[in-house]
Amino acid sequence: MSRPLLMIPGPIEFTDEVLAAMSLPSPSHVAPEFIAVFGHALKDLRAVFLADESHQPFVIAGSGTLAMDSAIANVVEAGDKVLVVNTGFFSDRMADICRRYGAEVDSLDAAAPGDTLSAEQVAVQLEKADYDLVTITHVDTSTGVLTDVQGITAAAKAAGALVVVDGVCATAGEAMPQQAWGVDVYLTASQKAIGVPPGLALLVASPAALDKWRQRRTPVASYYSDWGYWLPIMNAYEGLSPAYFATPAVNLVLALAVSLRQLLDEGMDAIFARHQLMSDAVKAAIGAMGLGQVPTASAHAAHTLTCPRYPQGVDATMLGYVRDGGAILAGGLHPDIKGDYFRIGHMGAVSRADVLATLGAVESGLRRAGYALEPGIGLAAAQALLG
Ligand code: PMP
Repeated sequence: MSRPLLMIPGPIEFTDEVLAAMSLPSPSHVAPEFIAVFGHALKDLRAVFLADESHQPFVIAGSGTLAMDSAIANVVEAGDKVLVVNTGFFSDRMADICRRYGAEVDSLDAAAPGDTLSAEQVAVQLEKADYDLVTITHVDTSTGVLTDVQGITAAAKAAGALVVVDGVCATAGEAMPQQAWGVDVYLTASQKAIGVPPGLALLVASPAALDKWRQRRTPVASYYSDWGYWLPIMNAYEGLSPAYFATPAVNLVLALAVSLRQLLDEGMDAIFARHQLMSDAVKAAIGAMGLGQVPTASAHAAHTLTCPRYPQGVDATMLGYVRDGGAILAGGLHPDIKGDYFRIGHMGAVSRADVLATLGAVESGLRRAGYALEPGIGLAAAQALLG
């Protein structure tokens, strides 16, 4: 292979068809052909999020942080009480964004990096104050922790709060039927399991989220994020007519249309099952190699990435050896444990061959770093599951 595999938790390996769409001559953002593609992509986005026409998709040029900013800028007003279900680095970011828009934020923190919070723990906290909004990080990319969006959303709804979920490291990898679970704003970015190079912020808002925005007493403090500008644009594209607020990232939208079609052709349930299988294989291999993982229980370990702890005597130098062996991995991110672990992304169109090649590179990297490891022991564990 001429280049190493990019096996980090985003950006990921993209399909040839998506990359080909990126390289087309840029269309005008008001050309009828482009409008048709964008309009269709908006419908497909709802289908990928498992929501119907009552839900409003937004596709905005920007990264996942913009998607977080857009959700909060629109549904939060100064003085609102927000409960952040905090499982790591990206939950901290959500809390900061809420504070920036004037919310009174309570952060309910997982006991330690690698832990999650249960719906019961959140329900207890919900009794202590009258929260307007609960935020959840579906998969915290800093710890590889998967949080119970379904259970926590049910608890939040019972307490009368809206729910915003950061799905940046989960969407199209972890099961997430937005409408069935009652999530009010589910947000993500293009560069992870959605399968498009970085640069698109993607959100789907429920009728209740749109009502909260419509009933605001104060203007949205962010000019670029204001749904008041974006809603007419999204409606126009879906209605196949031209409109302009800010120039869409046309090539990324072409690529998004291709990727969403590929996802829907495979089927969301099949995609979730495939992510589970790849994740099980990687985690089995890491276990067979004798390495621990950051999530404190396999029941709340994400299926989009794996966070192995370095064995005794090995540090991040090993990642250079893994790269020599053909796979680019990510280092630690959570500030409390940054130097203790690394991260393997396995979301999107990751094949069995990609997983095995990556695990082979991890084995050789560990051995070069001085860790005594029987060659093939991890690969055998993965192959037992992958067949
Ligand atoms: N939330 C989560 C869970 C993430 O993993 C990331 C990016 N790794 C973000 C938010 C921020 O996204 P971006 O880097 O695209 O701004």
